[in-house]
Amino acid sequence: MSYDSDNIFAKILRGEIPCDKVYEDDHVLAFRDIQPQTPVHVLVIPKGGYSSFDDFSRDASEAEIAAFVRAAGQIARDLGVVADGYRVLANHGRDANQEVPHFHLHLFAGKPLGRMIKPLDK
Ligand code: 5GP
Repeated sequence: MSYDSDNIFAKILRGEIPCDKVYEDDHVLAFRDIQPQTPVHVLVIPKGGYSSFDDFSRDASEAEIAAFVRAAGQIARDLGVVADGYRVLANHGRDANQEVPHFHLHLFAGKPLGRMIKPLDK
């Protein structure tokens, strides 16, 4: 999947549309999801043009990957959700229902989150 620089998160990164920012550094931006599914629902994105976890994990530099992982953990600490717990999740592609083709990590917290996915029927 080649990167589409017209996607909504690319526009947020360029400042063309606003976001409710919670964190920014040289490699990473994080902001609140516009349709939160939990009391805390933050999206963590790299500033580089990566479509999903697939090309990010393959093509991003060590510095970008390290910054991303460090930032995600720091954001959870800054939001005060470590003690009660949180979930991070990244969707890639059709079966995961990825909607925005710019790599992003969802950070969910603020209530009991239940099981991770529905178990397979036996
Ligand atoms: P995905 O299904 O791609 O993993 O999740 C995309 C997420 O982006 C959804 O949770 C959706 O609510 C969020 N989203 C879509 N458009 C916008 C937007 O313009 N601003 C913000 N802050 N979040 C958005």
